[in-house]
Amino acid sequence: MINHRGPEFAALIRRATARLKEFFQTQNDVLILTASGSGAMEAAVVNTLSPGQRVLAVSVGAFGDRFAQIAQAFGAQVVKLDFPWGQAADPAAVAEALSQGPGFAAVLLTHNETSTGVTNDLEALSRVVHEAGGDALLIVDAISSLGAIDLPVDRWGCDVVIAGSQKGWMVPPGLAMVSVGPRAWQAAAQAKMPRFYWDFAAAKRYLERGQTPATPAVSLFFALDKALELMAEEGLENIIARHRRIGEYTRAGLKALGFTLFAQGSHASNTVTAVRVPEGMDGAKLRRALREEYGVVVAGGQGLFTDKIFRIGHLGFVSEADIDGVLEALGRFWRA
Ligand SMILES: *Cc1c(COP(=O)(O)O)cnc(C)c1O
Repeated sequence: MINHRGPEFAALIRRATARLKEFFQTQNDVLILTASGSGAMEAAVVNTLSPGQRVLAVSVGAFGDRFAQIAQAFGAQVVKLDFPWGQAADPAAVAEALSQGPGFAAVLLTHNETSTGVTNDLEALSRVVHEAGGDALLIVDAISSLGAIDLPVDRWGCDVVIAGSQKGWMVPPGLAMVSVGPRAWQAAAQAKMPRFYWDFAAAKRYLERGQTPATPAVSLFFALDKALELMAEEGLENIIARHRRIGEYTRAGLKALGFTLFAQGSHASNTVTAVRVPEGMDGAKLRRALREEYGVVVAGGQGLFTDKIFRIGHLGFVSEADIDGVLEALGRFWRA
């Protein structure tokens, strides 16, 4: 390890931050937190809100629910807008919810819902939030989309956007990256929710010196630095195109095998595909057989869908050949 208060680390965090801004497509500040994605979700809430403030939490699955729970835990007055799992958020319904009653301080949105394999139309949703939401901040969980699915943070006016190292970035778990825009900084100056480790203002102050307030996960910064170098070589447009290609390839392969996809077709995610467990097949048995007999690890569903769907991740360091391996194993399991 290196001294995290020395010149080597300062160069590293500056280089990583500059590259992250390119991938976030933003001029906003980008902070790197030593945390899992959920830590950064909590940070987004406690830095921008005060207890008692009204927040609209739009949920299309387990991670949308988590965002609402975090805001609730810190005393926000959360109005929840739920859509059926497998469906995307409907911008018209979000506009309708925003027009009800006194103003909202923030809208919590999930860009790509990993529990269901749905990508929300964030461009349309952000337009609705800016038109119907008054001064509401737009806070986006982009943990399983940023770095893989297009998300122009500035063009879509997203005030806070959260990413996680273990998703599209090809880095082990443990770092979260957050962009913080001018309106979010204004809110932060007034926000009364308690915070210490998560304080964005402290992170920004330390970043100016090339440091973090507490000891960062230095080894993960090395990994992030290398991953960003690879990503810069490939280029954002190519990365997005590769994920689109692999998403389509995965969906086509599954359909050809006879599987039914879980997500609404028009909003199928290019980073994770959720598949219905066919009638008469045991979801837990399918996952175990794939793992033990074929060396293929797929995830089950979450909550009520644990054994009703399974999920294939195809983000970050992934190619068609990996998907071929999964499809081959699934085909053999089904025929066996
Ligand atoms: C993975 C994920 C999270 C949670 O991140 P952790 O790193 O597990 O805390 C939150 N939201 C989405 C959309 C995710 O994919």
